[in-house]
Amino acid sequence: MKTLVCVKRVVDYNVKIQVKADQSGVDVDNVKMSINPFDEIALEEAISQREKGVFKEVVVVTVGLSIAEDVLRKALAMGADKAILIQVDDLELLEPLLVAKILAKLQEEEGFDCVIMGKQAIDDDCNQTGQMLSGLLQWSQATFASKIEYGHGGFTVTREVDGGLETIFVKTPCVITTDLRLNTPRYIALPNILRAKTKPLIIRNVTDYGVDLVPKLETLKVENPPVRQPGKKYHDVQSFIKALDDDGVLR
Ligand code: AMP
Repeated sequence: MKTLVCVKRVVDYNVKIQVKADQSGVDVDNVKMSINPFDEIALEEAISQREKGVFKEVVVVTVGLSIAEDVLRKALAMGADKAILIQVDDLELLEPLLVAKILAKLQEEEGFDCVIMGKQAIDDDCNQTGQMLSGLLQWSQATFASKIEYGHGGFTVTREVDGGLETIFVKTPCVITTDLRLNTPRYIALPNILRAKTKPLIIRNVTDYGVDLVPKLETLKVENPPVRQPGKKYHDVQSFIKALDDDGVLR
């Protein structure tokens, strides 16, 4: 089987986000960018399933600016066999429905048996692309996967749901979205970084896919969360209780 893994280039999760002065978005100039953490988990899963013999080929794709080639090189160094960069000139185009439509077209061209992707991108926290792709392709979907096992023509997937774990069986072809506890992505050794330079990286343009490129969402403004008020210290229980009472907490 052949699988597609979707990776998005996002601000590294260790970076403190700065909102632009004009509130039009988040400042990404000179900021460390990385593979979306859930996508790294998706890639680790695809590679380890290939090592178990489930997949023959792991193809990684990103829809993004030309600079997003850096995350694809990292994915190749981790162990993907081939990478596809679908280039856009404007990050505004990267809304879930548009990305899902492009991925659906790519699937038509390449014929994958499975698409593994993150449950959400940590920049927009949409948690929509996988579900939309599954709808467009009319494929089975298993979201929030924390365990994946192949057998009997499909995957048995344990899903993280409110209040516990749910185990379902999805036939291939299917879309699987990954949760945090699925695995720990591998460390990339230096020889693999060098080897990745010789692996195929195909560059296409978003206009090659015949998808309507008019954004459906408009960002009105982006704001910082309210500043957290400093804590207060009380030196005895009575003054603490009085403060709670004054704040109306005890009524
Ligand atoms: P979202 O619905 O935006 O939270 O994204 C969910 C998942 O869709 C991500 O974890 C990625 O695996 C995939 N995805 C979203 N945007 C892109 C993109 N521009 N390129 C490749 N994959 C993407």
